[in-house]
Amino acid sequence: MHETAIVGSLFEIIRAKVAEHKIQKVVRVKLKVGELTAVEPMTLTACFEVFAEGTVVEGAELLIEQVPLTGQCGDCSREFRIREFRFRCPECESTSVEIVGGKELYIEDMEVQKEQGGNPR
Ligand SMILES: [Zn+2]
Repeated sequence: MHETAIVGSLFEIIRAKVAEHKIQKVVRVKLKVGELTAVEPMTLTACFEVFAEGTVVEGAELLIEQVPLTGQCGDCSREFRIREFRFRCPECESTSVEIVGGKELYIEDMEVQKEQGGNPR
């Protein structure tokens, strides 16, 4: 299950940020996950919750934004969605295709609370 390794490295980044900014609580974590990473969002969320337990991340909302696999033609430079791993330009049939989207795997945004007690209403 490669989700465990992924979440493990994401948590290293989160932990570093938490220490650096003296964060009391992480409210929301937004991830960008490309189609090519073959990450299963449900599995990722489950792993995330396991890692979050007993940390400042516990109870945080995990948002996963999936990025479709996108290619760009090297001949006519058209961008298109790659389906079923068919790396062929729909416009000119060229197989000179470069992947321009779908490899993403990173924390796009993290919403945190810095001080205990929160916002006065
Ligand atoms: Zn083309």
